[in-house]
Amino acid sequence: MDKLYAPKTIKAIKDKHGFKLSKSLGQNFLTDKNIIEKIIEGSLICDKDLVIEIGPGVGVLTTFAAKEAAKVIAVEIDKNLIPILKETLKEYDNIEVINKDILKTNLSEIIEENKNQSISGVKIIGNLPYYITTPIIMKILEDGVEADSITIMLQKEVAERIKAAPGSRIYGAISVAVQYYCSVSHIANVPKEVFIPQPKVDSSVIRLDIRKEKPVNLISEKTFFNVIKSGFGQRRKTLLNSLTGIYGMSKEEILQILKASDIEPSRRAETLNITEFANIANEIDKKCKSFTD
Ligand code: SAM
Repeated sequence: MDKLYAPKTIKAIKDKHGFKLSKSLGQNFLTDKNIIEKIIEGSLICDKDLVIEIGPGVGVLTTFAAKEAAKVIAVEIDKNLIPILKETLKEYDNIEVINKDILKTNLSEIIEENKNQSISGVKIIGNLPYYITTPIIMKILEDGVEADSITIMLQKEVAERIKAAPGSRIYGAISVAVQYYCSVSHIANVPKEVFIPQPKVDSSVIRLDIRKEKPVNLISEKTFFNVIKSGFGQRRKTLLNSLTGIYGMSKEEILQILKASDIEPSRRAETLNITEFANIANEIDKKCKSFTD
């Protein structure tokens, strides 16, 4: 089908199938070829890749990905889109559609099942449903899904928080968590006018290249993420105050931990880089190994 992304094609599909866009499923469909090409180019898909697409909608990104990749698996929650996708993707023999919630889909299992000699890489892509942007990203990263990268469209403001550096007002737990797992590249800014229906906010496309090796050595990832959570949970407080109470530790004990980590107790979480968070977490684990057991 030609120009699947054209607003009039999307309207014709809606009319033919009696399909109603669901606001609660974050259905804002992309209508701009230029942006579709930027996402595909930015994702660095090659003909030996398995592509997993999150939320294909009517399949605008899916068809472009299928032209570059060995195989595309598209996971779509809305059962009303399945007959539509059957029609819009019928010319492609390398696309599989799975009608499932991405948050309840075992991506590692899908990758394992599809591994063969003609596939050497795994790229995840998607114009994400914005109501679950962070849970989707964190699930893929925390599950340790063996993909090379995640190229996604998301709210501009969330993309900026993910990319933020220490010292910035928008640097927070999501910045540290994503940057621990990935290096982040900006691909494109996307105005809200290129979607049907138009969302309230502008968007960005970013690529997260999943690190083969983590940037810091940790005794326990759990302690590291707990320190980040406590630090940013009360971001206006000094570290001495925001960390007091973590694993039942007193102010005096946190003072010793910060001293051993070479960090001024009056600093705030938003000034710490990943290495400094790691140092605090490792000092806590060294002080009381049983906390994390
Ligand atoms: N890829 C299409 C495009 O660019 O036009 C659609 C993008 S739209 C922003 C998000 C898509 O994700 C919708 O098709 C929606 O139904 C789907 N979706 C929403 N929640 C989902 C979930 N939990 N699992 C899988 N797909 C989901």
